[in-house]
Amino acid sequence: MPNASMLDQALTRLDEAARQLELDADVLEKLKYPRETTKVRLMIRMDDGSRKSFMAWRCRYDDTRGPTKGGIRFHPDATDEEVETLAFWMTFKCAVMNLPYGGGKGAVRVDPHGLSKAELERLSRAYIQAFSQIIGPDRDIPAPDVYTNSMIMGWMADEYSSIVGQSTPAVITGKPIALGGSLGRDDATARGGYYLVRHLSQELGLRPGARIAIQGFGNAGQHIARLLADDGYAIVAVSDSQGAVQARGGLDVRSLIAAKQNGSSVASLAGTGGVSRLAANDLIAVDCDLLVPAALEDMIHKDNADSVKARVVLELANGPITPEADAILAGKNIVVLPDILANAGGVTVSYFEWVQNRQGYYWTVEEVHSRLKTMMEQEGRAIWAQAQERGVTMRRAAYVHALKRLAGAIEAHGTQKFFTS
Ligand code: NAD
Repeated sequence: MPNASMLDQALTRLDEAARQLELDADVLEKLKYPRETTKVRLMIRMDDGSRKSFMAWRCRYDDTRGPTKGGIRFHPDATDEEVETLAFWMTFKCAVMNLPYGGGKGAVRVDPHGLSKAELERLSRAYIQAFSQIIGPDRDIPAPDVYTNSMIMGWMADEYSSIVGQSTPAVITGKPIALGGSLGRDDATARGGYYLVRHLSQELGLRPGARIAIQGFGNAGQHIARLLADDGYAIVAVSDSQGAVQARGGLDVRSLIAAKQNGSSVASLAGTGGVSRLAANDLIAVDCDLLVPAALEDMIHKDNADSVKARVVLELANGPITPEADAILAGKNIVVLPDILANAGGVTVSYFEWVQNRQGYYWTVEEVHSRLKTMMEQEGRAIWAQAQERGVTMRRAAYVHALKRLAGAIEAHGTQKFFTS
């Protein structure tokens, strides 16, 4: 989770990519710092009549390519630096996918599990009251993130519409379908990763039948398990925060999802038909072909990276591999499909939602899937080609791919050379 050097670590990816390109100094100067981070103390009335305050942030990291886009996280460990790092990643993720957006992020330092539903609604509305001048459909467009969901997005869109005096669904994505949400948003993150793996399956040596281990079994983890299992891949191990299970011949994904829906850990399936239990921390060392981190940041670090046995890693989580671990994995010739590409299906379908809201014309789920597939394949293929051509990792190639687009936009405003020649 967050630590003092989180943003510095993220910026090392920018430096590495910049060394691959001949960039004007203006570009790095613009991308090294967040454009603006606003910090507000929200005060809400609790159910018992008392008042309680919560620190909240909204960061707009860079808006050169369009309005900023990024989720709002409700988490007890939220910090300025974490919000800024996540906004930096969003800047690159939107550029990787060629979405007409810059990067942003928001957070409230709160454990939402400790709030009643009415308190959660008041907190969500208070967030929009505080940041209504910062967000907007052409300025900054939030979405759900860790511990926020479609109902919260619905309250937030409603609050914004009340403040500006007109229905404005395009201010926030990830809304309930009944309030202008897009079909296909629920599994978009996992589906984007799935399309990427299928498209590059030959290059990656990951044909159906390959063995998959998944760390984290929430929204992203459950959907990728279902999509890959339906295609004939074997899900041989999964974990959540309370434990992990494995089965050499493959786990029954429907039973795992049912256990989670009943509020149990995946570990509750241990002991049934060839399923054995292992410690959650041991999941990354399971013998498999593809490892899918779908939990939290920094889960694969310098002390455990050497134990990874998979040949390919699909980063559905944001920032699950530290830069030191990245170097260890590269040394073992493990291909990492990086977060800014691998989990970009979520923001891509958020973009589709924004487009549909602005058009007032809604697409079928088949249209959403087909457009997502085209975009994941197009950008994934281009990054694969860059990696081969330059002899660099997929992560570095993805940053180079994004940086070229960001640099093109920054340079189009005129660089030092333009103003001094
Ligand atoms: P989620 O809260 O639904 O699920 C997270 C899962 O991780 C839970 O099953 C939890 O038990 C598990 N977990 C927590 N600590 C763990 C540990 N130490 N070991 C193993 N499992 C652990 O969250 P989500 O929406 O699935 O997001 C997961 C990751 O994917 C996050 O990094 C998020 O930023 C990223 N992501 C999600 C989306 C999306 O649309 N959901 C989009 C982009 C990126």
